[in-house]
Amino acid sequence: MGNKILLVIMDGVGYDTAVSQCGYLEGMVELGRARRWKMRTALPTISAAMYETIHSGLSPIDHGVTGNEALRPSIVPNVFQTLHDANFKTAAVAHSYFHTLYNGPYDLFDHIEVEDEEKNIQFGRFYSMEGYNGTNICAPAEIDLCAQASLLIKRHSPDYLLLHSSSVDSLGHRYTADSSQYRIQTWHIDNALARGIPRWLEEGYEVIVTADHGMNADGHHGGAEDIMRHVAFYYFGKGTITADKDSVLDQLAIAPSVLQRLGATIPDSMKAETLFSD
Ligand SMILES: [Zn+2]
Repeated sequence: MGNKILLVIMDGVGYDTAVSQCGYLEGMVELGRARRWKMRTALPTISAAMYETIHSGLSPIDHGVTGNEALRPSIVPNVFQTLHDANFKTAAVAHSYFHTLYNGPYDLFDHIEVEDEEKNIQFGRFYSMEGYNGTNICAPAEIDLCAQASLLIKRHSPDYLLLHSSSVDSLGHRYTADSSQYRIQTWHIDNALARGIPRWLEEGYEVIVTADHGMNADGHHGGAEDIMRHVAFYYFGKGTITADKDSVLDQLAIAPSVLQRLGATIPDSMKAETLFSD
């Protein structure tokens, strides 16, 4: 109770790729300083739908965001709104979709930086990736995202901080999941997290690293293939997760588990059992 949580979403990083490419995360697991499980996502495996699932504990079919098109603000109880209403501090370094979902329609010139305690995401740094194309991925450097997260911690000490990287998803669409570009970019996230996570742990955060969905060899996700649905779930913290190391966790459990660790009341709509026993 009363913990602070930093949740990292590595967009589009499937389970096997995380386990094979993330040498720092896996090294921490090997030394017993973190734990890792396989997690199964809800369906359909589309980014905005999964962002809302991770934050509402509901399947896309129930929360209503089933795709990236015509994205609109969340209409169900979610982590950001629940925390905001209970006077917790929230922050995010994330794609602008998160602004649309939890703070309302995104106007780049107004919202690229948000400092507004009335908003569900009170302190935000949002990126657009506008102009993304086959020769320029338009993704921020992973370490820049980590540094922005660190500055938000320094300035505001948020109770809940989301750090969302989109680069692997973009390269996966461009080159497929069966490509050096996809695999090596996954390692770049790991390499940046190796510099961020020790600081964040030192600053008193529990860190969770997961993904919204995976990617297949067509450079696609959205369906129900294991390669799209299986993601990693790493936990750096003192809470007790009772699931044994070979069990497959449920993505719907993230939202109530985060609220539980923070000591917030879990909305009735979040029905999945929490991951933590304490
Ligand atoms: Zn994608």
